[in-house]
Amino acid sequence: MQGKLNVQTENIFPVIKKFLYSDHEIFLRELISNAVDATQKLKTLSTRGEYKGELGDLTIEVEVDEKKKTLTVRDRGIGMTAEEVEKYINQIAFSGVTDFMEKYKDSHEPLIGHFGLGFYSAFMVSDKVEIFTKSWKDEPAQHWSCEGNPEFSMEEDMKHTDRGTEIVLHIADDCKEFLEEGTILQLLKKYCRFMPVAIRFGEESVWVDSETDCDKDGKPKRVEKKQPRIINDPDPAWKKSPSSLTDEDYKKFYHELFPMNFEEPLFQIHLNVDYPFNLTGILYFPKVRKTIDPNRNKIQLYCNQVFVTDQVEGVVPDYLMLLHGVLDSPDIPLNVSRSYLQSDGNVKKISQHISKKVADKLEEMSKRSEVGGKKSEGDESDLLPPTSDLEQKWDDIKIFVQYGMLTDEKFCERAMKFYLLKGVDGTYYTLDSYREKIKALQTDKDKTVCYLYASDAEEEHSYIEKAKAKGYDVLLMDSPLESHFINLLEQKIEKSRFVRVDSDTVEKLIPHDDNIPEKLTKEEKEKLQPIIEEAVDKQRFTVQLESLESDDAPMQVTQSEFMRRYREMAQTSGGGMGFYGEMPENYNLVVNINHPLIGRVLNETDADKQKELVHQLTDLALLGNGLLKGEALSRFLKRSVEMI
Ligand code: ADP
Repeated sequence: MQGKLNVQTENIFPVIKKFLYSDHEIFLRELISNAVDATQKLKTLSTRGEYKGELGDLTIEVEVDEKKKTLTVRDRGIGMTAEEVEKYINQIAFSGVTDFMEKYKDSHEPLIGHFGLGFYSAFMVSDKVEIFTKSWKDEPAQHWSCEGNPEFSMEEDMKHTDRGTEIVLHIADDCKEFLEEGTILQLLKKYCRFMPVAIRFGEESVWVDSETDCDKDGKPKRVEKKQPRIINDPDPAWKKSPSSLTDEDYKKFYHELFPMNFEEPLFQIHLNVDYPFNLTGILYFPKVRKTIDPNRNKIQLYCNQVFVTDQVEGVVPDYLMLLHGVLDSPDIPLNVSRSYLQSDGNVKKISQHISKKVADKLEEMSKRSEVGGKKSEGDESDLLPPTSDLEQKWDDIKIFVQYGMLTDEKFCERAMKFYLLKGVDGTYYTLDSYREKIKALQTDKDKTVCYLYASDAEEEHSYIEKAKAKGYDVLLMDSPLESHFINLLEQKIEKSRFVRVDSDTVEKLIPHDDNIPEKLTKEEKEKLQPIIEEAVDKQRFTVQLESLESDDAPMQVTQSEFMRRYREMAQTSGGGMGFYGEMPENYNLVVNINHPLIGRVLNETDADKQKELVHQLTDLALLGNGLLKGEALSRFLKRSVEMI
């Protein structure tokens, strides 16, 4: 029989060929998904008792014949009768293509993989396509053939007696790469790695013990043996029930997914929902220590085990892109553009569900274990205090949690309950318990609780010590997102203020009512100010005379919390805050007017000696802050020796 395809647009074939050039390769996924569907339908018919014959080996086969320039996909599924070919191939499928072209003719956005070109995508790479098919029903096999124009032929095919469908692509000259074994293998690995029916492509060699030959020690020789190469894992971990999997299984699967990632994941979440949408998958938490780099294509999106894309922007919230793993859902509309995807109801629900599961998991991990950890094996007597799983993993996931809290309002609300603050001594606290701990000593005269923190425990050591000496507690807040995060906490926690330990003198970090009496008069202070200003770089330092305890340091360098934090935020958030980013670093030189040495400076009559003393005192203050470097440091060392 000769026929004309049901096409409205005459020249649709050249359009198919040109269409989405970069996505040509998806034809293979489309054909193999059809083969998988046909195979699964047959299995269903068989379990329902409608198909009574043998299922036999259902492996799908892919073959390349370089000489004949053909690529063949063969399945042993339900096949098609003449009537079905007419209905599904000649009529419906093609109108599907025209609909699709109509809908996207004006769209320039790249489309997410699966756009349902289906069987006809074969023409993106072929001059001619043939179908040999025999239905599971007792009807003659059919041979359909089409040369990339609206005419096709279809006739009974006496040669084919086996149930199933064979699609033969006669690859076009400009698509020769699809005749290369390497290319096809790579595509199969990309798109078909977890399809639910075994797929065979050629052979592979394995090394086995010989049954006949032994080496001189009597051990069987190792010999090479050819066996069918199955390119997929039809039963991937995310489809299994979580209770049947051990931690080892999860780790093994992680490495199967990401063979180039050598680091072990910290833990994982196994997703399994079937109402109101369908979603399965496993998300792994990697270590996130210093950088956030969410676009690493580490979440793969599948639709019923068929790979769709690893570009999941719009499908999952930004911060979740720091996770690694797979998501599988038939409910994500993949034949639409990305901007549409973000507003799709199902996609929104799915992404909210994932966020919620992540929060659930972290909250569950934050529960303290009843018993403490053992210090060493067999040592029952001396238990370490109980810790939670979350505490143990915290340093590696803190940035992830912060990023989530900064970008996802709902997640933030949940995380306020389990977020952990870490003291400089390594102790972890929830936000509530920490506030309780510091409330008494660290509430200032305006009833604001002051959270003291250090960004670097080494560099800010002397300030930390001073704060501790006053009975204050100091947190370690050292992530690259910290300045943004601190702003968030100040908004979320009423009556709270975060101050870095070096942002003021210890008395002023948490201002209480008690004022220390000043030992200098107004005139004396006016005399002192220029003497000290003369010794420092006025561009970088602002000299401040303060009335501090007489045993406090004579001079200290501090840096305003506000300016420093905004500078840091500008540096990590790009545009918008440029003004702050460009401000020069500015410090305060705080002079303790109650210190005896400052009195000596004022009373020194020898101008040279006075200068020397001021330089020595300022240098000491700079040294304490790590600011004394290079030539200035050498000069200080020399002067110190001379003064001794
Ligand atoms: P879709 O798969 O999206 O329905 P296709 O154009 O790929 O669109 O296929 C159209 C129809 O042709 C399928 O729904 C199926 O009924 C039939 N078909 C395609 N390939 C096969 C096959 N290998 N075995 C049996 N039927 C097939």
